[in-house]
Amino acid sequence: MDTTAPGSVESDNIYVVDTSAIMSRRIDMLNRKLVFPASVLEEIRKGKLRRLLDVVSPEINVYAPSKESRRDVVSFATRSGDITVLSDTDIDVIALALELKATIITDDYAIENVAEFMGIHYVGSDLKPIKSKIKWSFRCTGCGKFYKSDIGTCRICGHALKRVPVRKTGKK
Ligand SMILES: [Zn+2]
Repeated sequence: MDTTAPGSVESDNIYVVDTSAIMSRRIDMLNRKLVFPASVLEEIRKGKLRRLLDVVSPEINVYAPSKESRRDVVSFATRSGDITVLSDTDIDVIALALELKATIITDDYAIENVAEFMGIHYVGSDLKPIKSKIKWSFRCTGCGKFYKSDIGTCRICGHALKRVPVRKTGKK
């Protein structure tokens, strides 16, 4: 079993970077092997963060994750309850980290949570370990019944479900 703590930073690691981490503007200080999903790069190109690319471009490698790893991520995220708040780009980030056995650099809470559940290492954009783990549940806004997954509306009373955390530990 891998006993390395989630979030520990090792210099020979590959890092998959998501848009939230790039937006933190600390990434350009990294001298590490950075990998971007093609979709993240596309998001940056369209936005005002474009000039940041010039700073980091010698360091970056662009890959697209496979359909298989994307499917794995969707499956885990459905179980953890994060699937409703993950974008396609978020799924790419996690899928790529899964494939490359990379560490994710992200400030996105849903990405961190799914990574945690999948045993993928991740750090915040400050590269400090994150000690947090949330499991989401879905609570009926009418009768208050809890559901493990988002089934849309309550089976008992038909009201909408709301995503709520079941467990939360140590987030700074
Ligand atoms: Zn209900």
